[in-house]
Amino acid sequence: MKKGMEKMCIHEDQIRDVTPSAQGCEDCLKMGSTWVHLRICLTCGHVGCCDNSPNKHATKHYHDTGHPIIQSFQPGEDWRWCYVDDMLL
Ligand SMILES: [Zn+2]
Ligand SMILES: [Zn+2]
Ligand SMILES: [Zn+2]
Repeated sequence: MKKGMEKMCIHEDQIRDVTPSAQGCEDCLKMGSTWVHLRICLTCGHVGCCDNSPNKHATKHYHDTGHPIIQSFQPGEDWRWCYVDDMLL
């Protein structure tokens, strides 16, 4: 590992104490669609589906709102992803 090459995420100050908007993908539930995995927006609590799902609502939510960081909403998973930096936190 080279020192000084690591990227830093400066978006963690946009993380809020959020309440999940739904127990499934909010937008898929409205459309009557299905999803593969769930992601939660750490800025507003929007629950959306992952990029392996047909509708990719979590990514769409980022493009619509600019909210940069999601966390896995799968049981037992707590990794976070910053869309702006394209990196795991
Ligand atoms: Zn970031
Ligand atoms: Zn969805
Ligand atoms: Zn959001």
